[in-house]
Amino acid sequence: MTVSIWQDKKISENCPEREFDIIIIGGGIAGLSCAYWLLKEDQDLQIALVEKNEIGDGATGRNAGFITCGSVEHFNRLIAKHGESEALEIWNFSETNLALLKEEIIRDKVAELDFEHKGSFSLASGHEEFKELKKSFELMQKLGIHVEILEQSDIKNRLGAEHFVGGIKYCNDASIHPMKLLNEIKRRCLLDPRFHLLENHEVYALEPSGDQKRVRTKKGELKAPIVVMATNGYSPLIHPYFKDKIFPTRGQILATSPVEPFMEGPCYANFVLDYFRQLPSGEMVIGGFRQLQKDAEIGYSDETSDTIQEALEDFLRRHIPNVSQAKITHRWTGIMGFSVDGQPMVGAIPGDEQIFFVGGFTAHGLGLAFHSGKCLADAMFDRSIPRFISARRF
Ligand SMILES: Cc1cc2nc3c(=O)[nH]c(=O)nc-3n(C[C@H](O)[C@H](O)[C@H](O)COP(=O)(O)OP(=O)(O)OC[C@H]3O[C@@H](n4cnc5c(N)ncnc54)[C@H](O)[C@@H]3O)c2cc1C
Repeated sequence: MTVSIWQDKKISENCPEREFDIIIIGGGIAGLSCAYWLLKEDQDLQIALVEKNEIGDGATGRNAGFITCGSVEHFNRLIAKHGESEALEIWNFSETNLALLKEEIIRDKVAELDFEHKGSFSLASGHEEFKELKKSFELMQKLGIHVEILEQSDIKNRLGAEHFVGGIKYCNDASIHPMKLLNEIKRRCLLDPRFHLLENHEVYALEPSGDQKRVRTKKGELKAPIVVMATNGYSPLIHPYFKDKIFPTRGQILATSPVEPFMEGPCYANFVLDYFRQLPSGEMVIGGFRQLQKDAEIGYSDETSDTIQEALEDFLRRHIPNVSQAKITHRWTGIMGFSVDGQPMVGAIPGDEQIFFVGGFTAHGLGLAFHSGKCLADAMFDRSIPRFISARRF
């Protein structure tokens, strides 16, 4: 949000100025993951995390809770784009993300966080897509990735889904309650007295101030030698560097009242554009269809659209008969940050090495952001990070 000259003067006159070693902007999974890993460094760092509303107000508190490996495209396409060795590196990076989440955060809180490690599925509505899934299956098996092919009857029996011709199971994928996960990372950070959480602090300017950076917020000015932007889809509103690199893209979801559990695991459909999942408590969550109005889904609007919501309802009726009569209880949107090449970006602004950033998760942040936060700490302390997530690739 912009700030007028009158509001700006009032803030400077009435609010205190505070100093830290590192200021992280953004209270989603990326910002909290960065805080978590930076607090683990053997350094006496005072770290502030500033969030414009409350923790989880952005995409992290609005997503479907899939923790999936790889990228938002079938593996055969990932190889066509990146080559076999980098595609495998991208896959392994997200497998490590899940392993790190389990080791560091989930630990013995599996039930408390609604964590389920049952794999995920990608379903083809047409034979062309099934051909690609079979090709992906062959390529992945050859590389030692644990996958399984499903025929039409398996899909009906194991997932209760109809009118799909075939599918693939990614056996190591998982799902979680995204807000519970976020709150657990927050809880762990707050145990450390060097961590300062400043909610309801919207940043409206980021400026140089001597050898420091001044972060102007609605509740006063903050200063630090280092700033980390973890604002994903909102990044272009704060710094022009992101205007041609991260694109705010709206996703829409609906949820139903609970029905008896019937699905083996969460599913993607239609080239990973649409997705549905039954929560452990029985509700169905279904999202996607932004391909129906691509242009309207770019930007920051929080309004759901009839076109997409109707398509989600049609999908329920056509493909998932067990919930076709369930009541629709929630409809919502969230803003994702799509990067130019679909991979996350970690690094520092060229020519301004005091501003680091991590973002561009392209609909896949739960599968990438915890590990990317670790890479952010690596980049800050001059340790190497994979080329495919380094912002130096641009
Ligand atoms: C409908 C939907 C479904 C999705 N489903 C999945 C899924 O199942 N699995 C998956 O892996 N990913 C999914 N995603 C994507 C995933 O949610 C994101 O990739 C991930 O949450 C990004 O995390 P983040 O921390 O980078 O961004 P965010 O969670 O958006 O966090 C950025 C934060 O920055 C704050 N902020 C912005 N501007 C300012 C400012 N000026 N001052 C202070 N704070 C500011 C925001 O309030 C926000 O809290 C989905 C996204 C949507 C919208």
